Amino acid sequence: EEISNGKTSSFSNLIPTIKFTQLFINGQFVDAVSGRTLETISPRTGEVIARVAEGDSVDVDLAVAAARQAFDHGPWPRMSGFARGRVLSKFADLIDQNADELAGLESIDAGKLFTFNKMADIPFAANLLRYYAGAADKIHGDVLKMSRELHGYTLLEPIGVVGHIIPWNFPCTLFFSKVAPSLAAGCTMVVKPAEQTPLSALFFAHLAREAGIPDGVMNVVVGYGATAGAAISAHMDVDKVSFTGSTEVGRKVMQAAALSNLKPVSLELGGKSPVLIFDDADVDKAVDLALLAIFYNKGEVCAAGSRVFVQEGIYDEFVKKLAVKAKEWTVGDPLDPTTRVGPQVNKTQFERVLSYIEHGKREGATLLTGGKPAAETGFYIQPTVFTDVKEDMMISRDEIFGPVMALMKFKTIEEGIKYANNTKYGLASGIVTKSLDIANTVSRSIKAGVVWINCYHGFDIDCPFGGYKMSGFGKDFGMEALHKYLQTKAVVTPIYNSPW
Ligand code: NAD
Repeated sequence: EEISNGKTSSFSNLIPTIKFTQLFINGQFVDAVSGRTLETISPRTGEVIARVAEGDSVDVDLAVAAARQAFDHGPWPRMSGFARGRVLSKFADLIDQNADELAGLESIDAGKLFTFNKMADIPFAANLLRYYAGAADKIHGDVLKMSRELHGYTLLEPIGVVGHIIPWNFPCTLFFSKVAPSLAAGCTMVVKPAEQTPLSALFFAHLAREAGIPDGVMNVVVGYGATAGAAISAHMDVDKVSFTGSTEVGRKVMQAAALSNLKPVSLELGGKSPVLIFDDADVDKAVDLALLAIFYNKGEVCAAGSRVFVQEGIYDEFVKKLAVKAKEWTVGDPLDPTTRVGPQVNKTQFERVLSYIEHGKREGATLLTGGKPAAETGFYIQPTVFTDVKEDMMISRDEIFGPVMALMKFKTIEEGIKYANNTKYGLASGIVTKSLDIANTVSRSIKAGVVWINCYHGFDIDCPFGGYKMSGFGKDFGMEALHKYLQTKAVVTPIYNSPW
């Protein structure tokens, strides 16, 4: 049911009609068994834009049963990898054909920039399907050279029914970072998008059906974490859970998995990633890189470079230039092509980010730029930079998940490395230097899943992404992600008619 589309915008031609608001189970769009719905609120306007069916454990049970039936008896795991790849390629083409509508949905639902959705998120989603489509017929085991008179080989089999639990910051990319490799592997699945951003996932369900993915293979249950999400992670008939979200909830998911059927889990969790800028850096370029690292996608990026450490020789020049260039990050309607920073995803996040900014001020950090809401309506916040930040301040320890940079100074390379690693997280990191020695030393010393040297947010489908330490384990993207959804079976036979 569509309530309002915020059609007052001068970019209203980009706002799509919301077509899919029901759960997708066994190839059908259905209401929640309870009949309940949840409100989807647009961060652009703060208005309700749709009511979407609210699934809970009862709906999860139905979706898991459909996925189980499709896995145990349906064609998907049994057809050739090549044939599965053909279906995934068709799914990818359908995404391209619907790119405008999907880009618009992401803007009104998640507050993400329309131009970026068109240029980055939507093509990336389609290309994830194409990448794993190409891998689907190249899933082989090994021939084993065993001792004694035995011959053996391994089969890589799909792990079974997978539960995917997804956050709201990259609803398209994260949906396909999980769904594409698990489909290629021959798994069936229940996907729970974030309750804040369910609209693109339901559109993808429609496209999956159009592409010819058999009923029951890909089910989508919208619902809250404590009900639908918890039901997936505790389910006795879910064989694996792939979770992206906060470290706090990741712990609950792992606990539920342990206490139910010991299903394996992979966790892509939070971060407080460091960017180290050395004295030999080109300061102008380093400033641009640091701003991109934290303000891209309004700071709602797990890999955001939220702690920036600048070596003392260029520190003053860096701060001066940063204060000027930060103003180029204009806040506004995500549909407006000139906007660089859209609204935070919802009121809770908006208030949370503002409360961290207040903490920063109270703890004695200096506010260099920003620090306030940026509009009367909607959830807009000014890009914010704090200097004089100390390691023990909350704004340098906690993941804020908004456009707030904590800037600090360091003296030696060793000190820089020590600061960078002084966090419970280990998701991403950045280094800016012209020195190969520094780049090599530091990249081997940082405890994080990715080190970007003289770049930031350098994501690629072929590049595994995932955390060290409390940022989780198990990679998304690349061939490693495919292997999360496979399990190894050894098959052994005697070479001769052995007596045993
Ligand atoms: P969240 O952990 O609150 O929610 C993520 C998902 O988990 C949602 O679908 C939610 O409904 C569900 N969930 C909530 N409680 C649950 C429970 N008890 N059992 C099962 N599922 C439950 O996180 P969020 O606030 O939506 O997202 C922000 C967090 O996600 C940040 O910490 C960010 O760093 C992290 N993130 C990580 C990556 C990565 O790849 N490492 C990517 C994006 C976001």
